[in-house]
Amino acid sequence: STMPPLLSAIANAGRRGVLTKSAVVMERLGQVDLVALDKTGTLTEGTPRVTDLCPLPGTGLDEDALLALAAGVEHPSEHPLARAVVDAARERGLLLPTAVDFASVPGEGVTAIVDGHTVQVGSPSRLLGDPAHQPHQKVAADLEDAGRTAVAVLQDGFTVGVLGIADRLRPDARATVAALTELTGHTPVLLTGDNESAAKHLAAEVGITDVRAGRLPQDKVTAVKEWETAGRRVLVVGDGVNDAPALAASHAGIAMGKAGSDLALETADAVVVRDELATIPAIIQLSRTAHRLVV
Ligand code: ADP
Ligand code: MG
Repeated sequence: STMPPLLSAIANAGRRGVLTKSAVVMERLGQVDLVALDKTGTLTEGTPRVTDLCPLPGTGLDEDALLALAAGVEHPSEHPLARAVVDAARERGLLLPTAVDFASVPGEGVTAIVDGHTVQVGSPSRLLGDPAHQPHQKVAADLEDAGRTAVAVLQDGFTVGVLGIADRLRPDARATVAALTELTGHTPVLLTGDNESAAKHLAAEVGITDVRAGRLPQDKVTAVKEWETAGRRVLVVGDGVNDAPALAASHAGIAMGKAGSDLALETADAVVVRDELATIPAIIQLSRTAHRLVV
């Protein structure tokens, strides 16, 4: 073939299910020596399910009422956790309350007004910081110790319940981490907005030891910049709105196409269209081979 090696590498990548946006990107992918992986929707399938419903005593809410309230607020959100909550409510045939003035805070959760009350749904560590909420923190901590993602539900600033949510590991996650370690000479890092306990559970399953949990979108950027200042060329792999700033700040960014939010897909340099993590080490290898042919 007379096609230049980098272009044919792009074509090959496309055939394997990775869309790269330019020849420069293709080249950069071959240069990375550290990979930062997001958790939810990246190492996991991104289709989490509600496993626990814990209305707090004295709130007057039962399991169904708690779930319906949370789902009403989560309804407009594109976050995988939001979809889990809405799906669980649908499966139980619950009628969702009408929520207005929806707003979402990446890395934290969502908020809306329901029946004149402010309802927040999101990260216990962000929303339950007040020591006055300690008993509710315990419910969340127990769920997190069991490897779940706990989601707190607050009404007018008071916790009314906690939901437990769990996601399945992608079948090729462990092999991909091993392949990336081999290729880059460094074990990938887990960079997640989720809680420390859920993050560590998952990291142990895939063979990751360096876990950076509870990171807001901007914290993910800070981590990437620190590694790059130390001489690393970082590949960020993510799927969410919360990953977009880090995808933009890194040497190269890859978004997971199927679970991926529009913002992540736009910001990333490349997109995994076929939903397989294992294509990432394959593409790095492809880029290196092509580049060796060019120089
Ligand atoms: P990750 O980095 O693992 O993809 P995110 O940064 O998207 O996680 O989210 C971090 C945490 O913020 C979640 O674990 C959850 O506690 C909370 N969160 C964010 N968005 C939502 C939402 N729509 N509903 C409930 N919780 C949310
Ligand atoms: Mg994610």
